Amino acid sequence: MPDKLDEYRGKRKFTSSLEPSGLGGQPIRPSEHLRFVIQKHDATRLHYDLRLELAGVFKSWAVTRGPSLDPGQKRLAVQVEDHPLEYGDFEGTIPENDYGGGSVMIWDRGYWAPETTASPDQSLRDGELKFILAGAKLKGSWVLIRLKPKPGETRNNWLLIKHRDQWATPGRDDVLDADRSQASGRSMTAIARRIGKPAKSFMTEGGATSATAVWDASVSTRTYRRSAAMRTTAATSIKAAKPKLSHPERILWPETGVTKQQLADYLLAVAPKMIVHVCGRPCSLLRAPEGVAHATFFQRHPLPGQRGEVDEIRVDRKHQPYLQIDNAQTLVAMAQMSVVEFHPWNCAPFLPHTPGRLVFDLDPAPDVAFTAVITAARELRERITAIGLVPFCKTTGGKGLHVVVPLTPDESMGWPQAKLLAQTVSAQMAEDSPTRYLIKMTKSRRAGRIYLDYLRNDVTATAVAPLSPRARPGSTVSMPLTWRQVRIGLDPGRYTLSTVPAILAKSKAWNDYAHSDRPLKQAVMKLLGGGK
Ligand code: ATP
Ligand code: MN
Repeated sequence: MPDKLDEYRGKRKFTSSLEPSGLGGQPIRPSEHLRFVIQKHDATRLHYDLRLELAGVFKSWAVTRGPSLDPGQKRLAVQVEDHPLEYGDFEGTIPENDYGGGSVMIWDRGYWAPETTASPDQSLRDGELKFILAGAKLKGSWVLIRLKPKPGETRNNWLLIKHRDQWATPGRDDVLDADRSQASGRSMTAIARRIGKPAKSFMTEGGATSATAVWDASVSTRTYRRSAAMRTTAATSIKAAKPKLSHPERILWPETGVTKQQLADYLLAVAPKMIVHVCGRPCSLLRAPEGVAHATFFQRHPLPGQRGEVDEIRVDRKHQPYLQIDNAQTLVAMAQMSVVEFHPWNCAPFLPHTPGRLVFDLDPAPDVAFTAVITAARELRERITAIGLVPFCKTTGGKGLHVVVPLTPDESMGWPQAKLLAQTVSAQMAEDSPTRYLIKMTKSRRAGRIYLDYLRNDVTATAVAPLSPRARPGSTVSMPLTWRQVRIGLDPGRYTLSTVPAILAKSKAWNDYAHSDRPLKQAVMKLLGGGK
């Protein structure tokens, strides 16, 4: 089977060179963050190899003149074949006659993260990757931009440029003067003569550097949080294993006979698509230890004894930590706790006080036909699109529909602004069709109408997550839809724990979600500035 490292292996003789083969000889240490290395390579021509970990390999560029902290310097970076991750620990000398013969120094290393919501894979295909480095010598924001190939040119040429930030040194281009190995402290001469301490490992088992410590020491918390957030919404590989279950045969949904085991299987199937909407936000859990027909309880905070089973986040000094689910593994493991619903905050990931999405909850009175809810969702879509935002629709697994609007995190735009926008849009809609919609929750006046609940848009307010199961008789789930599906004939009852994995595998719904966030500020200006 061809794989991404075939080109790498084809160029090397592993009998004479000490370079790693990438065939899994050395186990790679798991890392919470993506790693990078820059190897100074004294080959035919001295250059610096920039390597960014992505999907199990190092994407690699040969930077002829080396990186510069001067934003005015654009450095040619020629993309070369993917390298195995264990290559990041390689420091030493490649025999003269072999490919790349000469000495290699681990000049810098640390962690990196994409800086935008786009997946890094997509950014690389699009030819522009904005990213953050947290190394010892290189820190802060950078960009790789692909150059248009000249006629007949086959090389994959990029430019590596430092963005202006607190780590940039405009007009000064001296970072390469720091010329010692980050892994061994050795000079190039010492490496070539094979003297001094060997390199401390970083990529492979056996090293001792703490990912979090290195990252925290080198990047401001805000940048870290933002990039960590983006990391989770990007194509990083999401893997989960089946959890160990007690009472896997226990029936949690008596009407459909769905068991705890089936809940775990369902979560495993949807975790890659679901986790991006949950990760990094406090998440309340609805638990049904005896099944949804019996007592359920809503849990916001970790209980003593749950340490290590679920993540937690402290949002301020006043409140105890909230529950949080940061990876697919933990999400699937929630089946053991009989978690039947997931209700995350609508904040931006890892920024609990910053709006990350708007949720409009369309709640029909019992006597309202579902077609009226479909009409309401479509009208809301028009109104939201008109102010420059991109709406998505999902079933709730219940009676209504949710319209969800991703926002670009902007720490100057808080929940008061987001809520005002949601309230204004809802109020205008209710004003224009008072017989169909209302925004005040007065039970008596609700008959025949749809309540436009904009109150999901606040700090600590939750909404059921996309793909979350519901504790409702039909074992329905909250299903992301394409707008084409939001029309007469839509039957939310069709989307259940049993049917959704197969439907989801073929669905294109919400595929653009990660690229559809828009700044709240412009929408507020359009809505309130333009008048109505
Ligand atoms: P439907 O379409 O049937 O209205 P829904 O998800 O919009 O489905 P609810 O289950 O009534 O409606 O939830 C309303 C909101 O209240 C949700 O956003 C949810 O996050 C929150 N919520 C649900 N259950 C609880 C609970 N037990 N305690 C606190 N908040 C809850
Ligand atoms: Mn609702």
